[in-house]
Amino acid sequence: MDCIFCKIANKEIPATIVYEDELVVAFDDMYPKAAHHKVIIPRKHIATLNDLQPTDEALAGHLLRTVATLAKQLGIAEEGYRLVMNCNAGGGQTVFHIHAHLLGGRQMQWPPG
Ligand code: AMP
Ligand code: ZN
Repeated sequence: MDCIFCKIANKEIPATIVYEDELVVAFDDMYPKAAHHKVIIPRKHIATLNDLQPTDEALAGHLLRTVATLAKQLGIAEEGYRLVMNCNAGGGQTVFHIHAHLLGGRQMQWPPG
């Protein structure tokens, strides 16, 4: 499948992977939007949040817990951080393999743009 995030998960293209296990992979965003900007993906190819199935619930939960663990490791858990998941073009999604952006190390604004 011609999916850039599947290729990162399969080590077919390089990325700075900061965490991986049997279900998820986390790596540095190539174009960071904050001092800390990690991308967390399931190994399973799911194109958008709209495609999440009931059988993916444990996977989605594991991905969220991975974010919290990463935030602790980065030292930003207490000061705070932002988790973003963009869905489809109107939501700003450009890579169609679901992913969470973990952003931290600067003050976030609300509402996001
Ligand atoms: P989104 O716009 O929510 O789909 O986010 C896609 C993100 O993937 C963007 O923040 C990009 O900077 C990032 N990205 C795209 N290609 C790569 C890559 N090869 N390695 C790391 N991050 C990437
Ligand atoms: Zn994929």
